[in-house]
Amino acid sequence: MTATRIDGKAFAAGVRARVAERVARLKEEQGIVPGLAVVLVGEDPASEVYVRNKGKQTVEVGMNSFEHKLPAETSEAELLDLIGKLNADPAVHGILVQLPLPGHLNSDLVINAIDPAKDVDGFHISNVGLLGTGQKAMVPCTPLGCLMMLRDHLGSLSGLNAVVVGRSNIVGKPMAQLLLGDSCTVTIAHSRTKDLAALCRGADILVAAVGRPEMITGDFVKPGATVIDVGINRVPGRNGILGDCHFDSCAEVAGAITPVPGGVGPMTIACLLANTLTACCRANGLPEPEGLTA
Ligand code: NDP
Repeated sequence: MTATRIDGKAFAAGVRARVAERVARLKEEQGIVPGLAVVLVGEDPASEVYVRNKGKQTVEVGMNSFEHKLPAETSEAELLDLIGKLNADPAVHGILVQLPLPGHLNSDLVINAIDPAKDVDGFHISNVGLLGTGQKAMVPCTPLGCLMMLRDHLGSLSGLNAVVVGRSNIVGKPMAQLLLGDSCTVTIAHSRTKDLAALCRGADILVAAVGRPEMITGDFVKPGATVIDVGINRVPGRNGILGDCHFDSCAEVAGAITPVPGGVGPMTIACLLANTLTACCRANGLPEPEGLTA
Protein backbone atom coordinates (compact mmCIF):
# COMPACT_ATOMS: atom_id res chain seq x y z
CA MET A 1 0.00 0.00 0.00
CA THR A 2 1.30 3.45 -0.88
CA ALA A 3 -1.67 5.68 0.01
CA THR A 4 -2.06 7.55 3.27
CA ARG A 5 -4.85 6.00 5.32
CA ILE A 6 -7.22 8.78 6.43
CA ASP A 7 -8.20 7.83 9.98
CA GLY A 8 -11.87 8.80 10.31
CA LYS A 9 -12.10 7.36 13.80
CA ALA A 10 -9.37 9.67 15.11
CA PHE A 11 -10.71 12.60 13.11
CA ALA A 12 -14.21 12.06 14.52
CA ALA A 13 -12.79 11.94 18.06
CA GLY A 14 -11.14 15.32 17.36
CA VAL A 15 -14.45 16.78 16.11
CA ARG A 16 -16.26 15.50 19.21
CA ALA A 17 -13.57 17.01 21.45
CA ARG A 18 -13.98 20.41 19.75
CA VAL A 19 -17.76 20.16 20.11
CA ALA A 20 -17.43 19.22 23.80
CA GLU A 21 -15.09 22.14 24.45
CA ARG A 22 -17.52 24.66 22.91
CA VAL A 23 -20.49 23.05 24.71
CA ALA A 24 -18.65 23.45 28.03
CA ARG A 25 -18.02 27.14 27.26
CA LEU A 26 -21.65 27.68 26.25
CA LYS A 27 -22.75 26.25 29.59
CA GLU A 28 -20.25 28.23 31.61
CA GLU A 29 -20.56 31.58 29.86
CA GLN A 30 -24.17 31.63 28.66
CA GLY A 31 -25.92 28.97 30.76
CA ILE A 32 -27.04 27.26 27.53
CA VAL A 33 -27.06 23.48 27.00
CA PRO A 34 -27.55 22.32 23.39
CA GLY A 35 -30.23 19.63 23.06
CA LEU A 36 -30.78 16.96 20.42
CA ALA A 37 -34.11 15.12 20.08
CA VAL A 38 -34.07 11.81 18.23
CA VAL A 39 -37.35 10.24 17.18
CA LEU A 40 -37.54 6.52 16.43
CA VAL A 41 -40.75 4.93 15.14
CA GLY A 42 -40.97 1.14 15.28
CA GLU A 43 -38.48 -1.54 16.28
CA ASP A 44 -35.97 -1.82 13.43
CA PRO A 45 -32.89 -3.34 15.20
CA ALA A 46 -30.30 -1.43 13.09
CA SER A 47 -32.11 1.87 13.73
CA GLU A 48 -32.25 1.10 17.47
CA VAL A 49 -28.45 0.67 17.52
CA TYR A 50 -27.94 3.96 15.64
CA VAL A 51 -30.29 5.82 17.98
CA ARG A 52 -28.59 4.38 21.07
CA ASN A 53 -25.15 5.44 19.76
CA LYS A 54 -26.38 8.91 18.92
CA GLY A 55 -27.87 9.34 22.41
CA LYS A 56 -24.69 8.08 24.09
CA GLN A 57 -22.38 10.37 22.11
CA THR A 58 -24.71 13.35 22.58
CA VAL A 59 -24.45 12.99 26.36
CA GLU A 60 -20.67 12.40 26.18
CA VAL A 61 -20.10 15.83 24.59
CA GLY A 62 -22.20 17.47 27.33
CA MET A 63 -25.43 18.02 25.39
CA ASN A 64 -28.94 17.03 26.41
CA SER A 65 -30.33 13.99 24.62
CA PHE A 66 -34.08 13.55 24.27
CA GLU A 67 -35.12 10.15 22.91
CA HIS A 68 -38.66 9.56 21.69
CA LYS A 69 -39.46 5.93 20.92
CA LEU A 70 -42.86 5.49 19.33
CA PRO A 71 -44.64 2.26 18.43
CA ALA A 72 -44.62 1.08 14.79
CA GLU A 73 -48.35 1.75 14.47
CA THR A 74 -47.99 5.47 15.35
CA SER A 75 -50.17 7.57 13.05
CA GLU A 76 -48.86 10.42 10.91
CA ALA A 77 -50.95 12.87 12.94
CA GLU A 78 -49.37 11.66 16.21
CA LEU A 79 -45.85 11.93 14.77
CA LEU A 80 -46.53 15.41 13.35
CA ASP A 81 -47.92 16.44 16.72
CA LEU A 82 -44.67 15.37 18.44
CA ILE A 83 -42.58 17.23 15.85
CA GLY A 84 -44.68 20.34 16.42
CA LYS A 85 -43.97 20.14 20.16
CA LEU A 86 -40.21 19.64 19.58
CA ASN A 87 -40.19 22.58 17.13
CA ALA A 88 -41.69 24.76 19.86
CA ASP A 89 -39.43 23.52 22.68
CA PRO A 90 -36.57 25.99 23.33
CA ALA A 91 -34.47 23.26 25.01
CA VAL A 92 -34.39 21.33 21.71
CA HIS A 93 -31.96 22.74 19.13
CA GLY A 94 -31.75 19.72 16.84
CA ILE A 95 -34.40 17.22 15.73
CA LEU A 96 -33.63 13.99 13.94
CA VAL A 97 -36.27 11.53 12.77
CA GLN A 98 -34.58 8.18 12.25
CA LEU A 99 -35.17 6.81 8.74
CA PRO A 100 -36.52 4.61 7.30
CA LEU A 101 -40.00 5.21 8.73
CA PRO A 102 -42.64 2.46 8.67
CA GLY A 103 -44.36 2.28 5.25
CA HIS A 104 -47.61 3.99 6.26
CA LEU A 105 -45.77 7.23 7.15
CA ASN A 106 -44.81 9.76 4.47
CA SER A 107 -41.11 10.52 5.12
CA ASP A 108 -41.07 13.70 3.00
CA LEU A 109 -44.07 15.11 4.83
CA VAL A 110 -42.58 14.26 8.22
CA ILE A 111 -39.09 15.63 7.47
CA ASN A 112 -40.53 18.83 6.01
CA ALA A 113 -42.55 19.35 9.21
CA ILE A 114 -39.30 19.85 11.17
CA ASP A 115 -38.32 23.49 11.76
CA PRO A 116 -35.51 23.94 9.14
CA ALA A 117 -33.36 25.65 11.80
CA LYS A 118 -33.54 22.45 13.89
CA ASP A 119 -33.16 20.06 10.93
CA VAL A 120 -29.72 18.72 11.92
CA ASP A 121 -29.89 15.99 9.26
CA GLY A 122 -30.15 18.69 6.57
CA PHE A 123 -32.91 16.84 4.72
CA HIS A 124 -35.63 19.55 4.90
CA ILE A 125 -36.44 20.95 1.48
CA SER A 126 -35.48 24.46 2.69
CA ASN A 127 -32.02 23.29 3.66
CA VAL A 128 -31.63 21.45 0.35
CA GLY A 129 -32.50 24.71 -1.43
CA LEU A 130 -30.20 26.81 0.74
CA LEU A 131 -27.28 24.45 0.10
CA GLY A 132 -28.03 24.38 -3.64
CA THR A 133 -27.99 28.17 -3.80
CA GLY A 134 -24.81 28.52 -1.76
CA GLN A 135 -26.55 29.96 1.30
CA LYS A 136 -26.15 29.10 4.97
CA ALA A 137 -27.87 25.72 5.46
CA MET A 138 -27.95 22.77 7.79
CA VAL A 139 -25.81 20.32 5.81
CA PRO A 140 -26.35 16.51 5.73
CA CYS A 141 -23.96 14.86 8.18
CA THR A 142 -22.24 12.23 6.01
CA PRO A 143 -21.19 14.59 3.18
CA LEU A 144 -20.21 17.23 5.77
CA GLY A 145 -17.89 14.66 7.37
CA CYS A 146 -16.36 13.85 3.97
CA LEU A 147 -15.80 17.55 3.28
CA MET A 148 -14.09 18.07 6.64
CA MET A 149 -11.70 15.18 6.01
CA LEU A 150 -10.93 16.39 2.48
CA ARG A 151 -10.20 19.94 3.67
CA ASP A 152 -8.02 18.60 6.46
CA HIS A 153 -6.05 16.37 4.12
CA LEU A 154 -5.79 18.60 1.05
CA GLY A 155 -6.14 22.14 2.36
CA SER A 156 -7.75 24.10 -0.48
CA LEU A 157 -9.94 22.05 -2.84
CA SER A 158 -10.17 24.90 -5.36
CA GLY A 159 -9.81 23.84 -8.99
CA LEU A 160 -9.58 20.11 -8.28
CA ASN A 161 -11.55 17.66 -10.40
CA ALA A 162 -14.02 15.73 -8.24
CA VAL A 163 -16.14 12.75 -9.25
CA VAL A 164 -18.98 11.68 -6.95
CA VAL A 165 -20.31 8.22 -7.75
CA GLY A 166 -23.93 8.12 -6.55
CA ARG A 167 -26.72 10.69 -6.80
CA SER A 168 -28.83 10.05 -3.70
CA ASN A 169 -30.41 12.95 -1.82
CA ILE A 170 -28.64 12.03 1.42
CA VAL A 171 -25.08 11.55 0.12
CA GLY A 172 -24.30 12.00 -3.58
CA LYS A 173 -26.15 15.23 -4.41
CA PRO A 174 -25.25 17.19 -1.24
CA MET A 175 -21.64 15.96 -1.52
CA ALA A 176 -21.47 17.35 -5.04
CA GLN A 177 -22.95 20.69 -3.88
CA LEU A 178 -20.40 20.96 -1.08
CA LEU A 179 -17.48 20.23 -3.42
CA LEU A 180 -18.83 22.80 -5.87
CA GLY A 181 -19.04 25.26 -2.97
CA ASP A 182 -15.32 24.69 -2.41
CA SER A 183 -14.70 25.42 -6.13
CA CYS A 184 -14.05 21.89 -7.35
CA THR A 185 -15.04 20.96 -10.89
CA VAL A 186 -17.65 18.32 -10.09
CA THR A 187 -19.07 15.40 -12.05
CA ILE A 188 -21.84 13.23 -10.61
CA ALA A 189 -21.89 9.63 -11.84
CA HIS A 190 -24.67 7.07 -11.43
CA SER A 191 -25.87 3.71 -12.67
CA ARG A 192 -26.36 4.98 -16.25
CA THR A 193 -22.92 6.61 -16.53
CA LYS A 194 -20.88 5.34 -19.47
CA ASP A 195 -17.30 4.16 -18.93
CA LEU A 196 -17.28 4.95 -15.23
CA ALA A 197 -13.67 3.79 -14.75
CA ALA A 198 -12.32 6.28 -17.33
CA LEU A 199 -14.40 9.09 -15.81
CA CYS A 200 -13.12 8.29 -12.31
CA ARG A 201 -9.51 8.19 -13.52
CA GLY A 202 -9.81 11.92 -14.22
CA ALA A 203 -10.65 12.66 -10.58
CA ASP A 204 -8.31 14.29 -8.09
CA ILE A 205 -11.07 13.59 -5.54
CA LEU A 206 -13.12 10.42 -5.91
CA VAL A 207 -16.12 9.93 -3.62
CA ALA A 208 -17.84 6.53 -3.79
CA ALA A 209 -21.42 6.46 -2.45
CA VAL A 210 -22.91 3.57 -4.36
CA GLY A 211 -23.82 0.72 -2.02
CA ARG A 212 -22.00 -1.96 -4.08
CA PRO A 213 -19.24 -3.78 -2.22
CA GLU A 214 -15.74 -3.17 -3.62
CA MET A 215 -17.05 -1.97 -6.98
CA ILE A 216 -14.38 0.74 -7.32
CA THR A 217 -11.03 -0.91 -7.96
CA GLY A 218 -7.51 0.45 -8.45
CA ASP A 219 -8.01 0.90 -12.20
CA PHE A 220 -10.69 3.55 -11.45
CA VAL A 221 -8.18 5.67 -9.52
CA LYS A 222 -5.90 8.45 -10.78
CA PRO A 223 -2.40 8.13 -9.32
CA GLY A 224 -2.19 10.29 -6.20
CA ALA A 225 -5.95 10.92 -5.98
CA THR A 226 -7.82 11.24 -2.68
CA VAL A 227 -10.47 8.52 -2.38
CA ILE A 228 -13.39 8.81 0.04
CA ASP A 229 -15.33 5.59 0.52
CA VAL A 230 -18.82 6.21 1.90
CA GLY A 231 -20.09 2.67 1.29
CA ILE A 232 -21.31 0.45 4.12
CA ASN A 233 -22.10 -3.00 2.77
CA ARG A 234 -22.85 -6.22 4.59
CA VAL A 235 -22.06 -9.28 2.52
CA PRO A 236 -23.20 -12.77 3.56
CA GLY A 237 -20.19 -14.97 4.30
CA ARG A 238 -17.84 -12.00 4.79
CA ASN A 239 -17.05 -10.69 8.26
CA GLY A 240 -17.76 -7.08 9.18
CA ILE A 241 -18.62 -4.42 6.64
CA LEU A 242 -17.17 -3.66 3.21
CA GLY A 243 -16.83 -0.32 1.46
CA ASP A 244 -17.68 0.56 -2.12
CA CYS A 245 -13.93 0.60 -2.87
CA HIS A 246 -11.63 -2.39 -3.08
CA PHE A 247 -9.25 -1.03 -0.47
CA ASP A 248 -6.01 -2.84 -1.35
CA SER A 249 -6.03 -2.14 -5.10
CA CYS A 250 -7.20 1.47 -4.66
CA ALA A 251 -4.57 2.10 -1.98
CA GLU A 252 -1.83 1.00 -4.43
CA VAL A 253 -2.70 3.94 -6.70
CA ALA A 254 -4.33 6.63 -4.55
CA GLY A 255 -2.48 9.31 -2.60
CA ALA A 256 -4.90 8.92 0.31
CA ILE A 257 -7.95 6.81 1.09
CA THR A 258 -10.51 6.34 3.85
CA PRO A 259 -10.88 2.75 5.10
CA VAL A 260 -14.12 0.91 5.84
CA PRO A 261 -14.72 0.60 8.73
CA GLY A 262 -13.02 3.53 10.44
CA GLY A 263 -13.31 6.16 7.70
CA VAL A 264 -16.46 8.09 6.86
CA GLY A 265 -18.72 6.10 9.22
CA PRO A 266 -17.54 7.59 12.56
CA MET A 267 -17.69 11.09 11.07
CA THR A 268 -21.45 10.93 10.51
CA ILE A 269 -22.47 11.05 14.20
CA ALA A 270 -19.65 13.49 14.98
CA CYS A 271 -21.12 15.83 12.35
CA LEU A 272 -24.61 15.36 13.79
CA LEU A 273 -23.26 16.68 17.10
CA ALA A 274 -21.47 19.51 15.27
CA ASN A 275 -24.73 20.42 13.49
CA THR A 276 -26.64 20.44 16.79
CA LEU A 277 -24.06 22.80 18.26
CA THR A 278 -24.26 25.01 15.15
CA ALA A 279 -28.07 25.07 15.37
CA CYS A 280 -27.87 26.03 19.05
CA CYS A 281 -25.40 28.86 18.34
CA ARG A 282 -27.56 30.19 15.49
CA ALA A 283 -30.73 30.00 17.63
CA ASN A 284 -29.02 32.10 20.30
CA GLY A 285 -27.37 34.60 17.95
CA LEU A 286 -23.89 33.40 18.93
CA PRO A 287 -20.87 32.88 16.62
CA GLU A 288 -20.88 29.52 14.88
CA PRO A 289 -18.25 26.95 15.92
CA GLU A 290 -15.20 27.32 13.71
CA GLY A 291 -14.24 24.50 11.36
CA LEU A 292 -17.37 22.50 12.13
CA THR A 293 -19.63 23.84 9.37
CA ALA A 294 -19.52 23.88 5.58
P1 NDP B 1 -28.58 4.91 -2.72
O1 NDP B 1 -28.93 3.50 -3.00
O2 NDP B 1 -29.66 5.88 -2.38
O3 NDP B 1 -27.81 5.51 -4.01
C1 NDP B 1 -26.83 4.76 -4.66
C2 NDP B 1 -26.36 5.52 -5.89
O4 NDP B 1 -25.37 4.72 -6.52
C3 NDP B 1 -27.46 5.78 -6.89
O5 NDP B 1 -27.39 7.11 -7.36
C4 NDP B 1 -27.16 4.79 -8.02
O6 NDP B 1 -27.45 5.27 -9.32
C5 NDP B 1 -25.65 4.65 -7.91
N1 NDP B 1 -25.22 3.37 -8.47
C6 NDP B 1 -25.74 2.14 -8.23
N2 NDP B 1 -25.09 1.22 -8.96
C7 NDP B 1 -24.15 1.89 -9.68
C8 NDP B 1 -23.19 1.48 -10.63
N3 NDP B 1 -23.03 0.21 -10.98
N4 NDP B 1 -22.39 2.43 -11.17
C9 NDP B 1 -22.53 3.72 -10.82
N5 NDP B 1 -23.43 4.16 -9.91
C10 NDP B 1 -24.24 3.25 -9.36
O7 NDP B 1 -27.47 4.88 -1.61
P2 NDP B 1 -26.98 5.99 -0.54
O8 NDP B 1 -26.50 7.19 -1.24
O9 NDP B 1 -28.01 6.13 0.52
O10 NDP B 1 -25.76 5.22 0.11
C11 NDP B 1 -24.63 4.85 -0.64
C12 NDP B 1 -23.72 4.01 0.23
O11 NDP B 1 -23.28 4.79 1.32
C13 NDP B 1 -24.39 2.78 0.86
O12 NDP B 1 -23.43 1.75 0.95
C14 NDP B 1 -24.77 3.26 2.23
O13 NDP B 1 -24.87 2.19 3.17
C15 NDP B 1 -23.62 4.16 2.55
N6 NDP B 1 -23.92 5.21 3.53
C16 NDP B 1 -23.00 5.41 4.51
C17 NDP B 1 -23.19 6.38 5.46
C18 NDP B 1 -22.14 6.58 6.52
O14 NDP B 1 -22.43 7.07 7.58
N7 NDP B 1 -20.89 6.25 6.24
C19 NDP B 1 -24.41 7.20 5.48
C20 NDP B 1 -25.27 6.99 4.35
C21 NDP B 1 -25.02 6.00 3.41
P3 NDP B 1 -28.98 5.53 -9.82
O15 NDP B 1 -29.39 6.80 -9.17
O16 NDP B 1 -28.84 5.64 -11.30
O17 NDP B 1 -29.79 4.35 -9.36
